[in-house]
Amino acid sequence: MARVRGGGIVFPEKKATAGMTIMPMAVPEKVYIPMKQAPGEVYLPIVGPGDRVRLGQLIAEAGSPGCAPIHSSVSGEMISIDRLSAQMDKGELYMIIKTDGRQELDPEVRPPKIRNSFEFFEAVRGSGIVDFGRNRTPLVSMLERAEGKNIKALIINGTEPEPYVSVCAMNIQSFPEFLRDGTLTVMDRLGIPSGIIAVGSGMKDAISMVQSRIAGESRLSLFSVRNFFPSGNDTVLIHELTGELLPPGKAPEDMGYLVLGAQTVIKLAEFLTTGMPLVSRSLTVDGDAVSKPRNVEAPIGTHAADILEFCGGEKKPIRKMIIGGPVTGRAIESREYSVGKDDSAMLCFSELYTPHARESACIGCMSCADCCPMSLMPRFIMRAAITGDRDELRRLAAASCLDCGACSFVCPARIALGDRMKYAKSLLSDAAGAKAAGAKSAAGAVTPAGRAGEAGSQKAGSRPSGRGRSAGSSSSSKKTRESKGKGGRGERKK
Ligand code: SF4
Ligand code: SF4
Repeated sequence: MARVRGGGIVFPEKKATAGMTIMPMAVPEKVYIPMKQAPGEVYLPIVGPGDRVRLGQLIAEAGSPGCAPIHSSVSGEMISIDRLSAQMDKGELYMIIKTDGRQELDPEVRPPKIRNSFEFFEAVRGSGIVDFGRNRTPLVSMLERAEGKNIKALIINGTEPEPYVSVCAMNIQSFPEFLRDGTLTVMDRLGIPSGIIAVGSGMKDAISMVQSRIAGESRLSLFSVRNFFPSGNDTVLIHELTGELLPPGKAPEDMGYLVLGAQTVIKLAEFLTTGMPLVSRSLTVDGDAVSKPRNVEAPIGTHAADILEFCGGEKKPIRKMIIGGPVTGRAIESREYSVGKDDSAMLCFSELYTPHARESACIGCMSCADCCPMSLMPRFIMRAAITGDRDELRRLAAASCLDCGACSFVCPARIALGDRMKYAKSLLSDAAGAKAAGAKSAAGAVTPAGRAGEAGSQKAGSRPSGRGRSAGSSSSSKKTRESKGKGGRGERKK
């Protein structure tokens, strides 16, 4: 049973697939590789129907900045590029490849020769690697953004606070050397003096693996981060580790931090060692309706139906399938969904776990405020958004919302608060609104979490007088000092 803490949700640490080795999936008969992987991207296919393709072969170049090239995840014959109506992003193009089961390697797949920074960036650009969990942003874009910004620490995000999902932990456990080497490579290339590897406190085996692999490497430190959702959010994680607050609209690099996913640097190190671009994705397959919950490595473009079959099929009739974790994931309508570059889980639930999700009226319970990691008041922000009251939205610091979805998850009235928060922020996104929100934040409008003690007084339903807690307020500054003194809320392991 999940529990709301002051700023966040604590889920039970038990995950059915924890400790399960990641199993490579049998190659399906066909793969359907999405040509467009994020909004605004343009891809230029370089193979056509009838062409033979090999594993790791470049099949589509990036046609616009901000997208990563696409490589074939299988060997076989390219059949067509089609718009597939069953997919979630209806109308987008998919490259359909009939596999031959041989997984013949493309001769171009070999470790890149890197003698200088230019060659490093070009190699990463060609790898097709995206930063997991960041809307498929190419890794090279993350590195280029950080270059020349005087980054003081590289933070590796190895937290995995959502229930069910265990694939990040298993990747860290399976490839601790790649984690260490990928981290050090990025630090060396960007001239970053220190690296912090942040791992969820529940991931005990992963923690001891990392601990042993980084022993003697003085530039790296390991932090065990307390297990609560959304501890993996950049703003929350930086605050947990350093006590510093990321202002709304600012990127971690603006504060001297570069945050990358643990699986991202693992893939980077693997690519630099073997030359294999990003062609597969590891996912946790779980939920009460799956016969054999597993961690699997699936070729990109594999249908959800094939993955389900690999996991023994349905144990009970599936009522809902989610790609990603139960809080941040997206429900899929069809089993013809194709696995993309940053999918982390496929959860299948029966009727038992999926009560009817019809919205009802707000009951004023304030659970949404209690769980908000930014100490916001989603209920009141929702109201102000409905009436279009921008001044009230600014007063309530709506721009500080992290889009984490925790408020939607806990709402007993099943109100899609996350969508309301997005709408509220869109009302503030004009230049004047952004300026006002920035000024408010600069004055220290809100800090993540650490808001125990406020909840009780607000639960009575009284109108908040700026729910966001002032960084200069006594409770907040005390918390921040405590965090710094103890090395953040997590625990420094090394
Ligand atoms: S959690 Fe839902 S029902 Fe409770 S106060 Fe917030 S919006 Fe209203
Ligand atoms: S989505 Fe925004 S308002 Fe809701 S809990 Fe997360 S940070 Fe708070």
